[in-house]
Amino acid sequence: MAQVPPPKRAYDDSFGPGDYGWGSETTVTLNPPEVITYTVYPTTTILDTSTVVLEQTTHEVDRNGRRRNLDSNKHVRFGRSNGLAIHIIGITLVWNLWGIRWLFYSVKSFTAFVHESGHVVGLLVSSQPLHRFTIDPNLGGATYTTPGRRLKAPAMYLGQVFSIAFGGAMVFAGFNTLASKYASFVVMALWLPVIGLQRNLLSMLNCAVPLGLLIGVWFIDHARDLRFYILFIGILSSFYIVWDTMDDFFHRKQNECCVVMLESNTARPAAVWFIAWLVMSLVILAGCILGAIALFRQTEYGMYCEGQSFAPT
Ligand SMILES: [Zn+2]
Repeated sequence: MAQVPPPKRAYDDSFGPGDYGWGSETTVTLNPPEVITYTVYPTTTILDTSTVVLEQTTHEVDRNGRRRNLDSNKHVRFGRSNGLAIHIIGITLVWNLWGIRWLFYSVKSFTAFVHESGHVVGLLVSSQPLHRFTIDPNLGGATYTTPGRRLKAPAMYLGQVFSIAFGGAMVFAGFNTLASKYASFVVMALWLPVIGLQRNLLSMLNCAVPLGLLIGVWFIDHARDLRFYILFIGILSSFYIVWDTMDDFFHRKQNECCVVMLESNTARPAAVWFIAWLVMSLVILAGCILGAIALFRQTEYGMYCEGQSFAPT
């Protein structure tokens, strides 16, 4: 067996093509406590190599030769759960505080669009006529069938079903850069009708800002922060029932909130509907978060490299 020379150090300037450890078909075996540092540049040609390196770094061998698994994802997951809590608290404050509430106009409109389109789809599948439809957050989102008639099943339930399903899917994708890249196309496509449905040019421009931001985030720091945008959009829909009910009770919107609509349609109290939807939102959201943690197990750096494997920026 041919004697292989030891790998050169990463800081060695003479390290280059032709040297051991250079190229794609090389296996480097290290004896602890030897450490080798790889610097991987974000070009598609080197990405595969870096993935392999990262996947192999799943355990370490101590001085006595015992294997020990490295849970390098722990701090990443902790960071993401923290981010989630900050999102929820932040959204609740900004949604309600006088003055800065207008900052949320565009994303409220977007969240109302996701919800109301569920009601509209419900009308279409049950062949009830659509009379009026608004996603204006200042009036409160609403979908009406023929005046004097009430929404029937499934139209009255589908708004909330859409909010929970869309929110859960976005939060799931928000745990991974590559998944967030795919999800961002759905979000971009949804911004277009949201912008188109605005009453005046000013509101249209207001709603074009977050679409512009989404496109911008793709090109800032290799789309590393795209997942926080997607996570934010997801949280908004996941907790739609909370914002919508708060809007009606704190700010007395012209259009009644979803749980009050359900109360008048089903003779079950709004509080019961509120708790039932909230529990369902939480259960679905928890499932999506656990699923994301189980599936996306890369380190922060591995996730970055994987993200660069599709439409690198
Ligand atoms: Zn509704």
